[in-house]
Amino acid sequence: MGGMHEDIDRVLFSESTILEGIERVAADVTEHFRGRDFTVVSVLKGSCIFSADLIRRIPIPLELAFVSASSYGDRTTAGELEISFFPTGEIEGRNLLLVDDILDTGRTMARLKREFLDRGAAEVSTCVFLDKPSRRDVELEPDFRVLEVDDLFVVGYGLDFAGRYRNLPYVGVLEQSIYASVLEPSVDADSNA
Ligand code: 5GP
Ligand code: MG
Repeated sequence: MGGMHEDIDRVLFSESTILEGIERVAADVTEHFRGRDFTVVSVLKGSCIFSADLIRRIPIPLELAFVSASSYGDRTTAGELEISFFPTGEIEGRNLLLVDDILDTGRTMARLKREFLDRGAAEVSTCVFLDKPSRRDVELEPDFRVLEVDDLFVVGYGLDFAGRYRNLPYVGVLEQSIYASVLEPSVDADSNA
């Protein structure tokens, strides 16, 4: 009754596929930052699970920070992005690895990257769990990505639908009836972060 797994139509990426991909990206990130101080900036809420799995596979010193971004625009216009950085004051001169759950249109990541560079970050590299290149509308390729997805709305492993399903250990597609049951799904990056 009310289990999450029964709402899933199909699994796209199993937990073991995800963790294998993360091992590979963690090794690449490690080589990139070896010998340099850097801060992993996890974009809340979607990347919390990915960030936790990723950083535990990076065997060199790093710091961890969180950022949340909310937009006052609607889905089609580029609204003002309000960024909260935790902790504050750790941007200038730092090498940052910006970590998000999924790169879709690319707007959120592009704006965060520009904001951090404007605030004096020495370097801003980007790392995403999922890359959905078919939907891109700004020019941005992630420096690191775990897996590529087609133009599908996916949930699990941090990604939500209407606030739910973040705690699924795999990535899947919901049954059509679940999507239909909510009028305004929060597919907008900015509103569900
Ligand atoms: P964009 O790259 O369009 O600025 O926004 C990326 C954000 O959109 C992600 O952080 C996520 O919140 C949301 N998003 C995009 N595609 C999906 C998807 O397939 N599933 C879920 N749950 N969120 C998505
Ligand atoms: Mg998000």
